[in-house]
Amino acid sequence: MPQLRVPGPTPCPPEVLKAMGWPMINHRGPEFKKILYEVTDKLKLVYQTKNDLNILTGSGTGGLEAAVVNMLSPGDKILSVSIGVFGDRWANIARTFGADVIPLTFDWGKAADPDAVGDAIKANPDIKAVMVTHNETSTGVTNDLEPIAKVVKDAGKLLLVDAISSMSSIDLPVDKWQCDVVITGSQKGWMVPPGLAMASVSREAWQAFEKAKMPRFYWDFGKAKSYYEKGENPWTPAVSVVFALSVSLDMILKEGLQGVFQRHARIGQMTRDGIKALGLAMFADEKCASNTVSSIAIPDGVDGKKLMQLMQSEHGIVLAGGQQRLDGKIFRIGHLGMVSEKEIEDLLKALKYVLPKAGFSG
Ligand SMILES: *Cc1c(COP(=O)(O)O)cnc(C)c1O
Repeated sequence: MPQLRVPGPTPCPPEVLKAMGWPMINHRGPEFKKILYEVTDKLKLVYQTKNDLNILTGSGTGGLEAAVVNMLSPGDKILSVSIGVFGDRWANIARTFGADVIPLTFDWGKAADPDAVGDAIKANPDIKAVMVTHNETSTGVTNDLEPIAKVVKDAGKLLLVDAISSMSSIDLPVDKWQCDVVITGSQKGWMVPPGLAMASVSREAWQAFEKAKMPRFYWDFGKAKSYYEKGENPWTPAVSVVFALSVSLDMILKEGLQGVFQRHARIGQMTRDGIKALGLAMFADEKCASNTVSSIAIPDGVDGKKLMQLMQSEHGIVLAGGQQRLDGKIFRIGHLGMVSEKEIEDLLKALKYVLPKAGFSG
């Protein structure tokens, strides 16, 4: 079986895959109510929050759309802090629904500067919310969210966070940092198949929800909340993925949150060290390089497509390429969720074999 080393979907432990095959249950019955409440409570432990938490059926992007349509009205000014493809995507979602998006972008491969975020808020005092990506999967960069959150909350603005590829892998204490809406997706660090998005909703976010007028139906947080009180989702949820998530959450909590974060930090560092030892260069600025996904610059003379093809055909390892303007310029290694030192060691050994065959002479 090929080893998936893309930044989502990620490999799933056998116990998790087994749960996908549990017999189906009535999503409006007592069994689902029990598992929904258990899974939600366990998710809140990982989110480090007492806020409400909605489990939505959809991909991460659906969760990003949910944050927009539940918090904003057409014409609302918002600051979009973007350091790559996913930050840009979220800004586009907000524009699509009529928000007046003020973009604050940084060079790809770099993190957002908290002071620049503060300056942008000062220059636009009438903005309602700030959208920020915690971990930009397209460039392999983790933003320093804590100081960014501080400037946003000190200014009294809503803080919306895309934590799709960081939550459960990189520390993000939602309540401590006062994040208002935080989105993640099941197929990233959670070790679960695709199908669910999660969204935490703070008290301040609920106040914004009361006034928000963007059109919404499927993603309506109000409907999610009223059905949650009955132990249900408003629509038929991806029940099997909820089963899988309940098993993976037990594994995450058993390893311990700090243990999981430290494993990701160790493996991130090991990947970066190994990449450099091969004579390659990281694309992401080392100061903010992500512990869930590494982006590596493809050196001149190396055929990146061939490199990835050979990694798969000769070593059974699936890597990710670059997106949009990074296509052909970088390749990416996902190391989030179920990942061990041994797997990264094997991956680095395989790269060493394959690199010369793809034209590397370094
Ligand atoms: C994967 C990802 C998304 C998109 O999630 P989908 O589940 O593919 O819709 C958005 N933002 C970030 C940071 C991601 O890693």
